[in-house]
Amino acid sequence: MQIDMTAQPELAWQEQALCAQTGADFFFPEPGSSVREAKYICRMCAMRPACLEYALANDERFGVWGGLSEKERYALRRVPDSAR
Ligand code: SF4
Repeated sequence: MQIDMTAQPELAWQEQALCAQTGADFFFPEPGSSVREAKYICRMCAMRPACLEYALANDERFGVWGGLSEKERYALRRVPDSAR
């Protein structure tokens, strides 16, 4: 299924997402599996800030987004904005 990005401009960054080229398996591993490969890809992705912002704004609970694991995003949400 193709997503029409022009209908959802807030998702335009996904057109340049490196994970779109690698597939979702690295980014949504089985529980307890390593996310090292996903984080490695995220470090090379120019869309990382937009991706992380989207994940935090939309309370994405699963997978690696913006180079952060579920636990790392959870910890980040608990830090007040003034302390970031
Ligand atoms: S930063 Fe986001 S868009 Fe980029 S590869 Fe990682 S998960 Fe995909």
